[in-house]
Amino acid sequence: MTESTTSPQALERIRTDVRAMHAYHVQDAAGYLKMDAMENPFSLPDALQSALGERLGRLALNRYPGMRQNDLKAALAQHADAPEGSAIILGNGSDELISLLALACARPGATVLAPEPGFVMYAMSARLQGLAYVGVPLTPDFALDVQAMLAAIERHRPAITFIAYPNNPTATLWDEGAVQAIVDAVAAVGGIVVMDEAYQPFASRSWIDRMRADPARSGHVLLMRTLSKFGLAGVRLGYMMGPAALVQEVDKVRPPYNVSVLNCEAALFALEHAEVFAAQAAELRAERDRMLPLLRAMPGVDKVWDSQANMVLLRVADATRTFEGMKARKVLIKNVSTMHPLLANCLRLTVGSPAENQQMLAALQASL
Ligand SMILES: *Cc1c(COP(=O)(O)O)cnc(C)c1O
Repeated sequence: MTESTTSPQALERIRTDVRAMHAYHVQDAAGYLKMDAMENPFSLPDALQSALGERLGRLALNRYPGMRQNDLKAALAQHADAPEGSAIILGNGSDELISLLALACARPGATVLAPEPGFVMYAMSARLQGLAYVGVPLTPDFALDVQAMLAAIERHRPAITFIAYPNNPTATLWDEGAVQAIVDAVAAVGGIVVMDEAYQPFASRSWIDRMRADPARSGHVLLMRTLSKFGLAGVRLGYMMGPAALVQEVDKVRPPYNVSVLNCEAALFALEHAEVFAAQAAELRAERDRMLPLLRAMPGVDKVWDSQANMVLLRVADATRTFEGMKARKVLIKNVSTMHPLLANCLRLTVGSPAENQQMLAALQASL
């Protein structure tokens, strides 16, 4: 067999900025306790596994996805209690929706704005779709810097402003008044706000209440959620709801078959058993609240931020040493310390099952 070779001229055809990029790095987790990606630690109960398997087996896999997506949209709208008159777009994870919105808004000079440190996909999709990106630093204790946000919105007049509510990797849920001031400022420059509620199952508040209560003030607000942190990261199903005319424009750039019949049916199945996932989220919230004081009392942990998500951000003396120490003890967490200057010596832990958390805390203590 001859080895495959790559034509240098063909490589030259790839965009220079893309060639300069690093591929998204998924850590190889074989043999490790995986506490780096906010995944649900619980597997599907046996009875549900068989029921789902049977149902997926009966699908017409020879056909392109069809009208079943409308059933899923209706089920999601009901699950979320979507605001009156809103529409929903489905994505292959919310990552795809972030890209599609950027693509739909990629007019010359368009800008994406978001607080930082935040979710890396906002900046990445903006750059890939040819939009400028402006990151506005949070305060050192990871609150929104409202004055800085308002000034940046007025100056850059962003097409899209992303607000993760709660935020990743800080796990913080912003003050409602601060968010409303930003939402209003974006309206004043004619922009779109995306409230990214990936961590909604673990948060005490949702922006959807404001959208329902004040539709006139929310005509430019899109609410994005996902089944990933709901408990099904492998299914790849994100959704975005908001004013129908706006959602319909974004829907035009969506690849028509982006959500497979398997994703779609698995998502419908999950919503029919939403109480199973709600109970898992409740257990994870309780575990998080149990862990926070233990982490705060641990010698060598300098600071632990409050969390409204299934993750905890903490600061240690030497993040790299602690991360490597935990890795040597077969526990994989996320070292976020080089992602942003404000995150110096910060580590992000995923909240898992009681047994996993016990193992993680022991590895952390031994690695400080
Ligand atoms: C995990 C996460 C998502 C989810 O992305 P999917 O593509 O739906 O898995 C979205 N936004 C934030 C802030 C996240 O942390």
